[in-house]
Amino acid sequence: MSADIPFPSYLEQKRQLTQWKKISEKLRLVHSQVTQDVVKRMHNTWEAFKARGFGFPRYKKFGSLRSFLFPQFAENPITGYHIKLPKIGLVTINQHRPIPSGFVVKQVRILSRARNTKWFVVVTIQSDVCVPDPIPYGRGIGVDIGLEKFLTTSDNFVVEPARFFRDSQRRLKVLQHRAAKKVKRSKNWDKAQVKVASYQHKISNSRKNFHYSIAHSLCDQADMIFVEDIDFRVSAKGFLGKHMLDGGFGQFRDLLKWVCWKRGKYFATVDHKYTSQICPKCGTHTGKKELSERVHLCPECGYQTTRDHASGQVILKRGLESINSTDGLSGKEIGCQVVLSGVSCPDKWRFGAANSNSRGLEARSVP
Ligand SMILES: [Zn+2]
Repeated sequence: MSADIPFPSYLEQKRQLTQWKKISEKLRLVHSQVTQDVVKRMHNTWEAFKARGFGFPRYKKFGSLRSFLFPQFAENPITGYHIKLPKIGLVTINQHRPIPSGFVVKQVRILSRARNTKWFVVVTIQSDVCVPDPIPYGRGIGVDIGLEKFLTTSDNFVVEPARFFRDSQRRLKVLQHRAAKKVKRSKNWDKAQVKVASYQHKISNSRKNFHYSIAHSLCDQADMIFVEDIDFRVSAKGFLGKHMLDGGFGQFRDLLKWVCWKRGKYFATVDHKYTSQICPKCGTHTGKKELSERVHLCPECGYQTTRDHASGQVILKRGLESINSTDGLSGKEIGCQVVLSGVSCPDKWRFGAANSNSRGLEARSVP
């Protein structure tokens, strides 16, 4: 079409789709709602592009569309060992969890991973129950996410970065190197590509597993979790970019938020500015620290600890301030924590918990 014709709306494109279906036999092979959803996805991409103002959407090459969606089901398509997909038929599945009673299947997304050697079915289920968002209560921790230590909490609970990812990078490099040496689009090239893709899939699964277990262990330790609101995508562009992406910090924070919600723990992000430049004890600005400076030593009050621990404490302080200043949010329980522990020296009380190495469970205030 000529350039001055306005971009067609979603409804217009959907209408055109039915016209196309009359001509194209291939399009008729696919379930109508699946093709409609592809149009919708393209439309959303276009709208996002227009709002953003840059980054023209890229065409999908053959084989690069890695998922498709069945948006609607009249009846439950899952029968223990099979899923019944329209136009495709019965497909054998390995069902990981049963669908809980009272839920209906809302939509089904089919994902392909590792160059179409692994297929996944993601089932979205729906129920008429209303789950309230967790409210702030009980004991809080501040979590500092970093490179040297994966994370450090205000209780000085430290998680080392997983070695696995650094080692796996080496193995991945070897596989990629082997794949590059094969004749393009030959059978051996294809096999090598599958090996690379499955290994990448394995790495991303291990990372996710690592993140999940940490998120759960943090939820074991506290009722409120505060994290910095850093935009990790920006930091990933810097000279530590590769390591930042390897850590998958953004993914971890999203996952932590989700795990907190699921377990009824309060999650909030706080302003990240100067978290490593403020003394958590007395609030003095201690000036900018270089990345190599791993120790916090306050010239005012003499408080000394590791840099990450100090910023974890600052994050916690900000988190508690934010919920206390928000009207309607501050409940009885928060008052309880502040009163019991004392606003002036909450750290003392918290150190007691950390030193007994009990993950702070005893120190939890009882509402
Ligand atoms: Zn100080």
